[in-house]
Amino acid sequence: RSLGSVTIPPPACMLRPLEAPLRYLFGPGPSNVPPRVLAAGGRPIIGHLHPEMYEIMNDIKKGIQYAFQTKNNMTIAMSGSGHTAMECAVFNTVEPGESVVVAVNGIWGERVAEIAERMGARVHRMVKAPGGYYSNEEIEQTLAKHKPVLFFLTHGESSAGLVHPVDGIGDICLRHNCLFLVDSVASLGGAPLFMDEQKIDILYTGSQKALNAPPGTAPISFNERACKKMFNRKTKPVSYLLDMTHLSNYWGCDGKTFPGHSWSKRLWSSQGLENSWRQHKEVAEYLWKGLEDLGLKLFIKDKDLRLPCVTTISIPQGYNWRELLTYIMKHHQMEMTGGLGPSVGMVLRVGLMGYNCNKANADLALAALADALKVCPKSKA
Ligand code: PMP
Repeated sequence: RSLGSVTIPPPACMLRPLEAPLRYLFGPGPSNVPPRVLAAGGRPIIGHLHPEMYEIMNDIKKGIQYAFQTKNNMTIAMSGSGHTAMECAVFNTVEPGESVVVAVNGIWGERVAEIAERMGARVHRMVKAPGGYYSNEEIEQTLAKHKPVLFFLTHGESSAGLVHPVDGIGDICLRHNCLFLVDSVASLGGAPLFMDEQKIDILYTGSQKALNAPPGTAPISFNERACKKMFNRKTKPVSYLLDMTHLSNYWGCDGKTFPGHSWSKRLWSSQGLENSWRQHKEVAEYLWKGLEDLGLKLFIKDKDLRLPCVTTISIPQGYNWRELLTYIMKHHQMEMTGGLGPSVGMVLRVGLMGYNCNKANADLALAALADALKVCPKSKA
């Protein structure tokens, strides 16, 4: 075959410059990131085995240990979205046939239940309507009944706008010889969480919410108890890519090698976790008051159970939620979203996270909503 004889021409879209419009990302994530983080993405590529890379990875590990409030050595950032960490946590700690209990009070528990089912676990769901929460007694009874190797709970249930209390659950899991797995994708940095103190055995998060990085990185940490279970399996995890034996080696966590993305950890270490928590709470309370002044009803009634990062609003009567969101996007260049999974048709969601978390942005979001409520035709229903 001679050179230059392709039969499929290059697509015209490849010749057009890439367009990414500037938008207010006030939904449940991704959120806007500070210019410094955007600029970091323009730095040269380096090799994954270069000494500078190991240094960066070490820095990232320390940043995650701080953000998670853990001393766990087995702490890494995975390549992939939050879903990657969900699969990594389950695939590595559970073997086919083992029992798993999953708290399902929104979409995230349901997804973890499905992930565990796909790899052959026996899954027991604790199902509540979106926004429901569990007492420690209820959790203890279910663990006693099903004797799981893993219990899953979402800390920041972004589909419902709920932040779930965590205190005491780690002790219950310990008593029942079960690992405590927590999803903090939508809460880390926005609501207090202490991995070691709260005896969380496996914790993961995502990069694109309050952490203020682009999507595509998922920090995860395993404590000693989780490592013991994970590295004494009879079967290999179903995923090669997500096998912690390889990942822990690459990250120098397995004690065999130690050769040596600097994102938002800088922002965080200058601001501090406590300030970040305070700011998310203050701005959320300001937003909640503004929403109520507009006549809107908040989906989660109890203030202490409201997730500061993502606020859920009951869909106002007589409005079509899709119309409201489309209007806000078109006229205010602002993303807000509807529900997800079981909360679709129940809520609108507004997220002010990380760099987006300030009162000026809350005012913009409130003004956009006020405008949409005034202009959008009321449905006939
Ligand atoms: N868990 C929760 C609580 C989330 O809010 C999200 C993202 N909305 C995820 C998991 C999944 O993360 P990702 O979209 O990065 O895969």
